[in-house]
Amino acid sequence: MNNDNLNSYKSLPCKKCGRIVDNVGEEAVKVTCSMCVLGAVGFPEEPKSAYKPTGRPAGWHWMKEFVDKDGTVYHLGKEQPKLKGTLPPTKVKPVKKKRKKRRTKEEMLLAMDAERKAELKKAVKKQKDFLNHKFGG
Ligand SMILES: [Zn+2]
Repeated sequence: MNNDNLNSYKSLPCKKCGRIVDNVGEEAVKVTCSMCVLGAVGFPEEPKSAYKPTGRPAGWHWMKEFVDKDGTVYHLGKEQPKLKGTLPPTKVKPVKKKRKKRRTKEEMLLAMDAERKAELKKAVKKQKDFLNHKFGG
């Protein structure tokens, strides 16, 4: 075995952090250790979640025409670059939650009464129908 080849490699301190890097080529004058290379390249970013708040209303891409805040015009969600900036941005109304109207006690009683009367009417009609069928014709 000829190990002469090993002699053509040397160790050099990393030019950035000073860490000794082994087996750099004979020609190498400056070396950057793997840590610094990683640091320079940057760690892969965490995948961003699919949901990006756009500030657009829900279902905007189903709208016949939607103009984004920056003036980008969309027709059914398709960007219309030629129309950009020609239209005022679509006003996005904040979604209002429907609040149930509170009934007053009186209103509630009236509603209950009306319901009861309706039930009674139904019951009477049912009975009449029953009787008609039994004794009628
Ligand atoms: Zn380094």
